[in-house]
Parts: sequence; C-alpha cells; structure tokens
Amino acid sequence: MAGVTARYSSTRFQDPAQKEYFSFEEVVLKGLASDGGLFHPHSIPNIRSELQSWQDLSFSDLAFNIMRHFIDDSEISDSELKTIADSSYTPFRSKDVTPVIPLSKSSHLYLMELFHGPTFAFKDVALQFLGNLFSFFLVRKNKSVPSNATRHHLTVIGATSGDTGSAAIYGLRGKPDVSIFIMFPHGKVSPVQELQMTTVPDPNVHCLSVTGTFDDCQDYVKALFSDPETNKIHHLAAVNSINWARILAQITYYFSAYFQLLRQQPDLKRIRYVVPTGNFGDILAGYYASRLGLPVSKLIIATNENDILHRFWETGTYSKSPKPASEPHEGIPEDGAKAHEEGVKETYSPAMDILVSSNFERLLWHLTFEHECNLNPHVKSELSVRQAGKKINGWFQQLKNTGSFTVDPEILELARELFTSYRVSNPETLDIIKGAYRGEAIEHKGYVLDPHSAIGVAASLRELQKASLAPGEVVVSLATAHPAKFAGAVELALKEEADFSFDTVLPEEFKGLDALEKRVVRVEEGKGLPEIRDLITKEVEKERAERNGAAHD
Ligand SMILES: *Cc1c(COP(=O)(O)O)cnc(C)c1O
Repeated sequence: MAGVTARYSSTRFQDPAQKEYFSFEEVVLKGLASDGGLFHPHSIPNIRSELQSWQDLSFSDLAFNIMRHFIDDSEISDSELKTIADSSYTPFRSKDVTPVIPLSKSSHLYLMELFHGPTFAFKDVALQFLGNLFSFFLVRKNKSVPSNATRHHLTVIGATSGDTGSAAIYGLRGKPDVSIFIMFPHGKVSPVQELQMTTVPDPNVHCLSVTGTFDDCQDYVKALFSDPETNKIHHLAAVNSINWARILAQITYYFSAYFQLLRQQPDLKRIRYVVPTGNFGDILAGYYASRLGLPVSKLIIATNENDILHRFWETGTYSKSPKPASEPHEGIPEDGAKAHEEGVKETYSPAMDILVSSNFERLLWHLTFEHECNLNPHVKSELSVRQAGKKINGWFQQLKNTGSFTVDPEILELARELFTSYRVSNPETLDIIKGAYRGEAIEHKGYVLDPHSAIGVAASLRELQKASLAPGEVVVSLATAHPAKFAGAVELALKEEADFSFDTVLPEEFKGLDALEKRVVRVEEGKGLPEIRDLITKEVEKERAERNGAAHD
C-alpha cells in the first residue's frame, strides 16, 4: 500500500510529552502500552470498493489483504507477510480454515466453526499468527548478530485456565530463539487441556503446574513482568488477548464468513454476527471488520453469567459488581474494595469467566473519539485524540479505585448502534446443547455444541425471536471450541440422550494423549518470585546451551 503509514497509539495517550506513535513491531512485542493503555490503529481505511475482488481469495490471501492495511510494508514486505499468513493457516484441518455451516436454513441461521486449528480452539487463529510473527522479528534481529555473539532471545510467559495455554504453545513450539512458559493452576484445568499442553515434546516449551488458582498464576506473570531482575536477564513477551496481533488475525474470519455465504447465495446483503464473549477480543475484530466496510448489520455480544458487558449495554455503567458500588447493602457499612469485588462466577463456559473484559477499552476509545469529533467538528482531530485519551484514562482509574464508571449517554448511544447483548445462564447453556442435539429450533439434528458455542446459539435464537431480518440478511453465530474440549458440560447436557456417545465427538488427535510422556514442572505452594525467576532462567540457559551444542556439532 504505497503512501499508507500504519501506526498505533495508546488508548490513554493524552499528553503531547508522551510518545504518540508506535510501529507494528513495537506494538506486538510490547503488548501493553507503558501508560497502561492498549494500542489502537491510528487510522482504519474503508476497503468496501475492494470487497468484490476479494470474493474468491483463500483464507490466507484474505488475511494478507486485511493485514496489509495495518502493517507498514517498510516493516514487513509483501512476500514476507504472505509467507507468515500462509504458514499460520496451513496447519488448519479445514480448507476454508473457519467453515460456515447451516444450522437452520428456514431462519437464516449459520454457524462459523472456528475450532479447526491445531488445538481445536478458536484461539489458534490468532496464536498461530502471533507465534510466526514473534519468530519473524527474532530471525530478522539475529541475522546481523555475529556467530560468536549472544543471540536475541524472547521469553514468552503466560497464565492459562485452559484454552490460551495450549494454543500459545502450539503457536511457538519448536521456534528458534523463543522459550515459552505457561502456568496453570494445579488440578484445575480440564484433563484434555492439560494433556494438550504437557505432552508437547519440544524443548522450548515449559509447563508449570502451580498450586493455587488461575489468579495466583496471573499474579506470578504480572510480578515477573514488573520485576527489574527478570527484565535484566530476559526479554519478556506476552501472548494474552490484548495483543493487537491477535485482534488483527481475527478480523479475517468475519470476511471469510461473508464470502463463503456470498458464494452460496448471491443475494446476500448483510450479516448479524453473534459472538460468545469474554475478553472482547473476538467481537472487537468484528467491529474492525465493520469499520473496514464489511456489511455487518449487527454485532451481538453473548455473555455467560459473568455479564459485565451485558450490564454495560443495558445501563451505560461498566461495573465489576452487579450492584452499584456506592449503594450500601441494607445498612451494613461498605467493606472497602470487597463491596465491589464479588469475584468471577464459575460457569460451564470457563473461557468466558471474566470479571472485566480487557479489550473493551479499545472499543470505548473508538466510540469516545467519535463522540469527541461529533462534539467539536471544527477542531483538529489531534485534540479529539487527546480528549478521548484523557476520558479513557479517567474512567479506568475510576474502575480501579471504585469498581465502576459510567459513560456519557451519547457514547452509550453510539455503542448501541452496532452492538446488542444477551446474557445466557448456566441452565440455558445446557438446554441449548440438548435442544440443538435433538434438532429443536435448529434443523441440524445431532450437532454437538460446546458450552461456549451454545451461548452464542442461545443468543442467536433470542435475537431471531426479537428482530426480523431484512431481505438478504443472515445470522452467523461463532463456534469457539470443539465439544471434546469441554466433556463435562457436554456429557451433563446429553446424559439422557440414548443415542449419544462421547466417543463420536472425540477427535483422533485426543486419543492416546494420556500415554505420551508428560513434561511439566510442579510449583508448590509458597514459592516466591525469586524461585520462579531462577527456574525460568535455568531452563532458558539449558535450552540455549543445547542449541549452541547442536549448532557446533
Ligand atoms: C477465549 C474464548 C472465548 C472468549 O473470547 P474473547 O475474545 O475473550 O471474547 C470464547 N470461547 C472460547 C472457547 C474461548 O477460548
């Protein structure tokens, strides 16, 4: 794209003394901005006029075309970006990568299956790409390093309650000059998910089974990232869902769904996408797709009982607790932070069990910026950028201090133009898995939904009941995981179905995992930061020594 400069800024940028622009490489390797904000693209082109010529592209060519608009070609050339996209999507088991199947032709309801990647989770779409990007940047840095000097090395550290860990491991396994450390709560990850992580034989993969909860794992990760000693020894990188490269990669399947359906029905006009949502990464990619010019008529947020987003769309207040933080409960005095820290509810869809939704800040920045531009149509947009950053900064400080904030009514209006939301309870999740299997409400009898995808389908059916579709309009519900990954909920929902046997949904790849050698380090209770840091340093040194040994053979 000659003449286009793709650059990024923090959502909390407000002061001209701060660094305002970041390159794509900086954004990917830093993850989070140093002011605590998230990186957002400085401009979003409208590519509607290109749409027609994209109709027959493969998934990876689509990915290339979309990413090209957000990565400057001075940073990654066309041929390099093509190679990265190709190698990210060839490991998928479906030729369409994210195939769209009909659930109910009569009500124009479709399902996009996002789980055909190496770990059977939708997170593969993003983490295959991120892994290849990390590797690309390192290879380039190391090209100019003399053979007797120390090579650049990246140490990726993450915490997982399930899906992210294995998808990140599969994105980075065997990649030179990268080590990956994944911490998970001991005994609290589903057996399949644990085996997917611990049976990977590559020496650069390290699983740490930590006594405690997922939050304890996350605390270790945060402590390592802010520890000066660790940062002296290692160049750390994160793979969590706020990384811009993950969002970018996810834009592609919104386009892919549109083209897959357009090939079947040339009169297709617009799509309502329904997205099982946790950290708001998946659906945010849909927002960018819409801003790029894809005909998206609605983005529908489907939450489980952890419904902070649903409550925001209802009220304009973004609050950790369902109760207003300032409202004393029956005369009992407020107990400081506790009053609004009720904690995360455990549901059948654990990948969506969140207290706050980290990528929401990005959407809020775009909406706030739009609002500022509407308020001051005659001032320079740089001023609106700073004004928006100031507001976002204020709100997120308030969230930290009081547990909630409320946006301007006009911003809520803007949020409601494209988005709606539904909250789906635990019992309803099981009912939908059962109903779908029995072919009630959908025509695809015998289809087994995982509990996350079921939340999307539940919201889709409610939307279809409430709204009537325009001619040429369809609903695409996103399926985010393979049912075999969430055996517990699926078996619970289908236990009365005489003809159902779990073996029929179990992929070949999951069979025999238990017999493989497991590589996992136990981190017992009471281990502090220094011990974890030493463990990581030792493992990285061992890996590098082995690598150098191999290189000199
Ligand atoms: C991560 C995940 C989600 C939630 O996606 P967000 O981008 O965090 O909104 C939903 N379902 C599954 C199976 C996931 O792994």
